[in-house]
Amino acid sequence: MFQIMELSQKRIEDYSSVAGEDAVSRIMEKGEKLSGTKLAHVNSTAYGGGVAEILSNLVPLMNDIGIRAEWWVLEGSDEFFNVTKSFHNALQGNKNLKLTEEMKNLYIKTNEENAQKTDLTEFDYVLVHDPQPAALIEFYEKKQPWIWRCHIDLSCPNREFWEFLRQYVQKYDRYIFHLPEYVQSDLNPEKTVIMPPSIDPLSEKNMELKESEVLKTLERFDVDPDRPIITQVARFDPWKGVFDVIDVYRKVKEKIPEVQLLLVGVMAADDPEGWVYFEKTLRKIGEDYDVKVLTNLTGVHAREVNAFQRASDVVLQMSIREGFGLTVTEAMWKGRPVVGRAVGGIKFQVVDGETGFLVKGVKDAVEKTLYLLKHPEEAERLGISARERVRENFLITKHLERYLDLLLSFSGEG
Ligand code: UDP
Repeated sequence: MFQIMELSQKRIEDYSSVAGEDAVSRIMEKGEKLSGTKLAHVNSTAYGGGVAEILSNLVPLMNDIGIRAEWWVLEGSDEFFNVTKSFHNALQGNKNLKLTEEMKNLYIKTNEENAQKTDLTEFDYVLVHDPQPAALIEFYEKKQPWIWRCHIDLSCPNREFWEFLRQYVQKYDRYIFHLPEYVQSDLNPEKTVIMPPSIDPLSEKNMELKESEVLKTLERFDVDPDRPIITQVARFDPWKGVFDVIDVYRKVKEKIPEVQLLLVGVMAADDPEGWVYFEKTLRKIGEDYDVKVLTNLTGVHAREVNAFQRASDVVLQMSIREGFGLTVTEAMWKGRPVVGRAVGGIKFQVVDGETGFLVKGVKDAVEKTLYLLKHPEEAERLGISARERVRENFLITKHLERYLDLLLSFSGEG
């Protein structure tokens, strides 16, 4: 494992203006009780995807309130990440995948090698994210609470993969899921915790941007600010429904020819499959230059994503499975109307007709997108309520406080 050292500094006081002074003082009080506590977060990528996004914000804030939090990243070969991508796909519901002895062995061996390289015994708490590093627990003499945090949609997992993973998960002292429907009935309910994830309103991804910066960013990437923009931000992953997004755009373009589509996508380090899907996406788009493919490879980072989300007239999230779409929360926070497929976390994030629209498939999404493009005042109304929904439920301050309560519960204080 290697440790992520270069994290931005954050100050909890700065969050009073968005989250309220009461929330901030409660957090500071709870932080004081945990002052000096050492906590290790372990995940499997330093960038790309929601988990890295959350940790890059949560770890600095935990440090600011007195916890000595560190972020460690599992190391593995491409084959290992291919295996864990199959885990991910199977756990999100792909029933055709088979778990071979070879896959199990590589998974176990990689976790064992990582455990041999890094001593986690000095930490007071160990927080392990997602399936990739879940088996680490097997290779340590356990002296402290271990918590497993699941970020994926476990509503109908491939049983073979879940049963394999469960033998490790059940050794943890707590398991955290985003939503009640992801809880597995073969785990101890007393150790189960529900906690939706969050966004950081002050990060580069979500902070307020000047209109001039948004316009400059559009210009830099050859997007016309005077024509309608629809956008999906997502990794190049079959679960993200990118092909459906292209189909929605094409249908919308039949009625509104000047519409543009932005496909903003990042290449995550633990996702080798992403490249294959990236190429397929380009082939499907063909020669339509009103579709812009915008990635970290050509300079699209947090601030640019922020600008594209702000510039969008409609934000789509056509995922087929979605543990909890941070991209949805990010767009909602920017007051943008989201048209999202009614699956997983999206169902819970978007309140249909109030903070955006939930759709079943392409046809529905076309209808709602056209409606929003033709009724900007309605788009604005939904956007305003969307922002409030995020403020009340999905900001990092709420998430941090939930973590503090969980940590304190081990000493009977939470
Ligand atoms: N993201 C990004 N650039 C991209 C695509 C995604 O910065 O081109 C970020 C996105 O803004 C969000 C995270 O990656 O913060 C994706 O989290 P989400 O929960 O939506 O999906 P995941 O990738 O974890 O399945």
